[in-house]
Amino acid sequence: MNRIAVLCSGGDSPGMNCAIRAVVRTCLANDIEIFGIRRGYAGLLEGSQHQMDTASVGNILQKGGTILQTSRCPEFIKPEIRAEAAHILKRKNIDALIVIGGNGSFNGAWELHKEHGIPVVGIPGTIDNDIEGTDYSIGFDTAVQTAIEAVDKIRDTAHSHDRTFIVEVMGRKSPAIALHVGLCTGAENIIFPVQEEKEVDIDTIANDIKRGLKRGKGSSIIIASEGETEGLSHYVHNELLDKHKLDSRVCILGHIQRGGNPTARDRFIATQMGHLAVKSLLAGEKASVTAEQNGQVVLEKLENCLGKKFEVEEKYVEIVKTLSK
Ligand code: ADP
Repeated sequence: MNRIAVLCSGGDSPGMNCAIRAVVRTCLANDIEIFGIRRGYAGLLEGSQHQMDTASVGNILQKGGTILQTSRCPEFIKPEIRAEAAHILKRKNIDALIVIGGNGSFNGAWELHKEHGIPVVGIPGTIDNDIEGTDYSIGFDTAVQTAIEAVDKIRDTAHSHDRTFIVEVMGRKSPAIALHVGLCTGAENIIFPVQEEKEVDIDTIANDIKRGLKRGKGSSIIIASEGETEGLSHYVHNELLDKHKLDSRVCILGHIQRGGNPTARDRFIATQMGHLAVKSLLAGEKASVTAEQNGQVVLEKLENCLGKKFEVEEKYVEIVKTLSK
């Protein structure tokens, strides 16, 4: 193992830079040449790689986003396109690839490994925390913290005006952000991702608001996952008004949840994952993921991390319900 390349793929998440820094410096400490590939698999196909040194990852640890940038590259699902990518890596004498991204990106890495024997390591990076095989993915904590700070501010005005707010958070197919934000902000209700708007239980939400009003609680916060397309909260607003004569305000947090300086947790985990990713390749691992399991950063087989998890942790839902009554 002489040369390793690293790329980010899929959605960006705060903490990716910490992982890149750890990858680069662990390589250099082990006399491995390290190449950064810009814009994910698309950049790989364009041959967009550059050699990195200690200085190229200086002063990035605290910055959100990714210095390597990221992209979606739909054509990477085609075997012939992956063959091109493998050819480019081999031509540049790159012996292994580290992919920082979500389970989609891991599927690309897995196929590349299966078809062309290239050793790959995945580092989980997505604010949704929805990758199978790992308890944690880089960026989740920062995204939750950003959303919490926003909801705290909204609660100030909600309370001052006796208003109900529906705050829409990210998590198209994952309930994790909504659940954690809901619990940490004392939300009165949480709406988890749904396939169709009509699945939202408007009557229960309305009854909860009315019960609060009866006991003199003028304001409520409802946390809504964005659903298939952004804007589910507008539907909830309209239904509450039309069917129950309950007015509310909508606030969609959107992409602010993707940015910002990574929290201590994200830096701590991302740094360990970046370091372990390189160490695992040096130890001869061929297809693994740096996962967090039971509070430890460990290696998991890549094939166990290809799916999306959708866990609504009932014990937390129960706490939210109990405390908001
Ligand atoms: P994430 O990695 O955050 O889950 P995506 O699902 O958008 O994000 O995947 C990112 C990229 O990974 C895609 O644009 C594509 O290049 C690659 N990819 C996703 N799924 C596959 C697949 N089944 N086979 C090969 N490549 C894939």
